[in-house]
Amino acid sequence: MNEFINFLKIANIDFEENVSGARLCSFRVGGNVRVVAKPKTADQLTSLYDYLYENEIKNILLGRGSNVVISDDGFDGVVVSLSELSSVDIDITNDRYIIAGAGASMAVLANFAYENGLAGLEFAHGIPGSVGGGVYMNAGAYGGEICQVLKSCLIFDKNQGMLLFVNGDECDFSYRHSVFMDNKDLIVLFATFELKDGDPDLIKAKMDEYKAKRIASQPLEYPSAGSTFKRPEGHFAGKLIEDCGLKGYTIGGAQVSEKHAGFVINCGGATADDIKNLVAYIQKTVKEKFDVSLECEIEFVE
Ligand SMILES: Cc1cc2nc3c(=O)[nH]c(=O)nc-3n(C[C@H](O)[C@H](O)[C@H](O)COP(=O)(O)OP(=O)(O)OC[C@H]3O[C@@H](n4cnc5c(N)ncnc54)[C@H](O)[C@@H]3O)c2cc1C
Repeated sequence: MNEFINFLKIANIDFEENVSGARLCSFRVGGNVRVVAKPKTADQLTSLYDYLYENEIKNILLGRGSNVVISDDGFDGVVVSLSELSSVDIDITNDRYIIAGAGASMAVLANFAYENGLAGLEFAHGIPGSVGGGVYMNAGAYGGEICQVLKSCLIFDKNQGMLLFVNGDECDFSYRHSVFMDNKDLIVLFATFELKDGDPDLIKAKMDEYKAKRIASQPLEYPSAGSTFKRPEGHFAGKLIEDCGLKGYTIGGAQVSEKHAGFVINCGGATADDIKNLVAYIQKTVKEKFDVSLECEIEFVE
């Protein structure tokens, strides 16, 4: 790792060493990550991945960590964070297009759209992830989804070592799914969103309405990764879990939220293992009672 640290210094890539997983993921759990590298430009990102590839250094990509859990043993490799690629601007070719860096937060993106009288991203305001993570997940809420507004992306293909443009309709989007989930070599660097002119007062009213709904229905006062499971066809995960009598069920510091059974929360001192064990217990219980397989939305980093 010392040679890698030297490389980062020479390449002027920001980094941190021995970072607690709890600082990197919204569940606030996990052991130490050996190095977090934060490229500021596409050039830095490509040279970083060239180095990691040539030297066979274990690495993972993180956005804002709102859908991942880092293992209690930590991660003895490199977390690539795109937090420094966070610009948000109107596209000079069309004032209804917004270009956002993958590391920008969805809240900043949605606010920028509102401030510029552009409608279509109101649903994204309360999703605590990054633009890159949102594209990866095809994040959505209240009837809106990233795929409805994504025009194109600039991506880096780690395998080919190339930057490429892809159109939104080439991303194989479906419910909480994109091509980026099937091919982890593809990294979103910038995303262009195509929006519509809108009345700022109406845009703001919609964002406020969604925010009030979230506060009323979700356990936002506890660390979590949002909905733990994808919506199974024909059912609601929260309702199935509640009907199994699992509301409030606790393993260590991980608990099925009393407020919304679709959320596993860190109710204090949870470990990554507590969360993993609780997820497995819920899946087993729901399968036994309703013969429905719940697919976990959260990713566990080992
Ligand atoms: C309180 C709360 C509420 C939530 N509500 C919602 C909701 O309403 N709707 C919803 O869809 N989700 C919701 N989520 C889940 C989460 O915020 C989203 O899935 C979000 O899109 C994850 O983005 P992230 O940047 O945090 O990704 P991370 O958790 O950092 O990463 C998740 C995955 O995305 C990959 N990834 C990240 N950036 C990129 C990139 N640039 N290119 C390629 N892959 C990338 C990572 O490698 C990883 O595999 C909620 C979470 C919380 C904590």
